[in-house]
Amino acid sequence: MGSRSVGKSSLTSLYMQNQFNDSYYPTIESTYHKDIVHDGITYECEIIDTAGQDEYSLFNHKYAVGIHGYILVYSIASRQSFEMIQTLHDKILDFQGVEKVCCVVVGQKSDLGGVRQVKTDEGRSVAQKLGASFIETSAKDNKNVQQVFDLLMVEMRKVFNPPQEK
Ligand code: GDP
Repeated sequence: MGSRSVGKSSLTSLYMQNQFNDSYYPTIESTYHKDIVHDGITYECEIIDTAGQDEYSLFNHKYAVGIHGYILVYSIASRQSFEMIQTLHDKILDFQGVEKVCCVVVGQKSDLGGVRQVKTDEGRSVAQKLGASFIETSAKDNKNVQQVFDLLMVEMRKVFNPPQEK
């Protein structure tokens, strides 16, 4: 989840298909399925790439029910998208009716250092405040993309019990 155009679809499609697309098609919403092997256990995962949110978007119920973890994405070149992280996080907690959710905060487009509006430390400290992991990525340079999903698996494993091995 995150503001429009921060690179949510690019991250997802790189992770799913190893492909980066330079053109921009605003996502309506896509759901992907992937068997993710983590610590020797295979998890059947469903990954929802959302349309993108702004502070006025109504929170869609289905982003709260049965969701085990969130990747909250902003662009390091957009302070506005960074400010959405806290707003989105608050909405998630509100809808889930919980005090903490598994989360990774992602500072995307790290290749755009020349027009950076959000310092790495600011990203790290908001993540810390939310009890989330933090990473900066560039879908364009294929940097740290796999790690985003690995970090979320680690976060989720801390909270949800792994299935019993047979
Ligand atoms: P979404 O709306 O959040 O799903 O964003 P998209 O993945 O569709 O990307 C929006 C635009 O940003 C597209 O033109 C992408 O090519 C571009 N983009 C995505 N990731 C990066 C990145 O890491 N660096 C740069 N410079 N551009 C990116």
